Amino acid sequence: MKEKSTGIIRGVDNLGRVVLPKELRTALGMTCDSKVEIFAEDGAIVIRKYIPPKACTFCGAVAEDAILFEGRRICPACLARLTARQDDGERRDQP
Ligand SMILES: [Zn+2]
Repeated sequence: MKEKSTGIIRGVDNLGRVVLPKELRTALGMTCDSKVEIFAEDGAIVIRKYIPPKACTFCGAVAEDAILFEGRRICPACLARLTARQDDGERRDQP
C-alpha cells in the first residue's frame, strides 16, 4: 500500500501513547475492542489494524469453517447474509 499523508499531527505523551485519529479509526471500521499491530519498517513506526489469521473479511469473527473466496475469508453467518441479499436482489429484478 502506498503511504498517504493525512495531514494529522499528534503528540506523543510521556508514556509513549498516541491517540489514533477518529476519522481513521472510523474509516477502518475500528471499535474500542479493535487491536493494532505495531512494527518498524524503513525507519517508520507502522500501526496497522490487527486482523487475526482466519478472521472473516466482513465481521472479523474467527471461524474455522470459513470459506475462501477471491483470497478473502467469509464466515458462514456472513455468507448466509450475502446469499439472502443476493436472493432479495434477484426477486426485485423480476417483473
Ligand atoms: Zn463474518
